[in-house]
Amino acid sequence: MAAKEKVLKFIDIFGDKMQEHRQALTDMDQAIGDGDHGINMSRGMKAVAEKREELAQKNISDLLKDVGMTLVSKVGGASGPLYGTAFLKASMVVKGKEELNAQDLSDMLKALEDGVVTRGKATTGEKTILDSLVPAIEAYDRALAAQKPIKEAMQEAEKAAFEGVEYTKTIIATKGRASYLGERSIGFQDPGATSMAYLIQSIQEAL
Ligand code: ADP
Ligand code: MG
Repeated sequence: MAAKEKVLKFIDIFGDKMQEHRQALTDMDQAIGDGDHGINMSRGMKAVAEKREELAQKNISDLLKDVGMTLVSKVGGASGPLYGTAFLKASMVVKGKEELNAQDLSDMLKALEDGVVTRGKATTGEKTILDSLVPAIEAYDRALAAQKPIKEAMQEAEKAAFEGVEYTKTIIATKGRASYLGERSIGFQDPGATSMAYLIQSIQEAL
């Protein structure tokens, strides 16, 4: 499969997962936020799915940019601009590329992180999207350095992302709405870290 088809497949899979886990993500956000994370993510990815034909006409960079702009414009919550900026940054690092190698994927993952950090000014350990994304990138890069094939590297990234989700249960939220709860946020899984783990899983499944 050509790289563009894989990117489109990843977007399809992620969209499906956001519909599938809509209620669970919303319930998680109900516990420590305002109960809309699943609604936000599913609404954003539904708007993306509605443009599927249009996206398929674009090159990799432009289609990722379109996904990012759609998320920024269609999602009201914090997650729209965070995910949207992540996709916009990813679109920049693959400008002009029609094929993607293992290193390009690493660059794209780091661009996602860069987008989230640029927008949200958080770091790991604050119970956010970064707590699944950053360990996933580290695991991916470790696997590549150990000469593992891309698919295996992404499987390790996926495992690390879901471990990161588990880790969010043990820490206090210091960014976003959940931070209003302070210590009472301990024990709850972070919805944004969870949706990001599904994004990593979607990339792995699309490969
Ligand atoms: P809102 O908080 O506006 O209701 P969502 O419910 O859609 O938006 O998203 C909440 C998620 O956003 C949180 O679970 C957290 O993972 C993530 N988040 C919030 N603030 C930040 C931030 N500054 N950086 C990274 N992720 C963040
Ligand atoms: Mg919310």
